[in-house]
Amino acid sequence: MLKLMNHASLDEWLAGTGVTLGLSERVDGPMRWVDSTVPMPAARARFLERVGLRPERAVSARLAHGNRAAIVTAAEGGRLIEEVDGIGGGVDALVTSVPGVALTITVADCLPVFLFDPVSGIIGLAHAGWRGVLADVAGQTIQAMCDLEAHTEGIRALIGPHLRSCHFQVQPEVEAEFAAYGNHIIRRDGSVFIDLSGIVRQQLTEAGIQPENIQEDPRCTFCDSSSLPSYRRDGSTALDQAMLAYIVRVH
Ligand SMILES: [Zn+2]
Repeated sequence: MLKLMNHASLDEWLAGTGVTLGLSERVDGPMRWVDSTVPMPAARARFLERVGLRPERAVSARLAHGNRAAIVTAAEGGRLIEEVDGIGGGVDALVTSVPGVALTITVADCLPVFLFDPVSGIIGLAHAGWRGVLADVAGQTIQAMCDLEAHTEGIRALIGPHLRSCHFQVQPEVEAEFAAYGNHIIRRDGSVFIDLSGIVRQQLTEAGIQPENIQEDPRCTFCDSSSLPSYRRDGSTALDQAMLAYIVRVH
């Protein structure tokens, strides 16, 4: 398992909240799971067990690079969720109020955004690629948490490793999509880069989260080739090697 932030400060940050969270790394094996008609991949189940979680209580999401958040309970344990309110098409965020129900998503350059409200015990996990960032999937996840009576003033957020602005270079057609976020567009040596975590931070604070409650792991998936998969760097093999992000309220 990857040491997020660094372990000491993550432990300190989570102390007394009853929440535990983490991310697999390459050595943990392929985590990808996109077909609900086949069982959870063995490496994924093994990783969950290794971090003390029961695979049959872990809820997974069939990702779609959109902004829909599904509220889940123990009934969805062990399943790959594709629907919100009975409508298919994929899910990019999971939210629950149930202790012991682990929320999981996979990432390979996209931002994992871990969210929890220590007071209500409600947790959320969002998968935000650049399309999901444009669609404000983080804000939608917070909305779903508040539908379950979380309060934004206490919500804590951790943005995990992803394709950072050192490597998220875009062409003009993608740059144009980010016109509303001009303060997060970086021009360097004739190229254009976008700071996705800067945009997500802005969206989190606009949704009501206190800036001091937002943490960030500093690593870039492209830069850290030894332990992190990067779709931008490695192409489709990175999808097979995608990391599993999880969050659970233990008690
Ligand atoms: Zn980088």
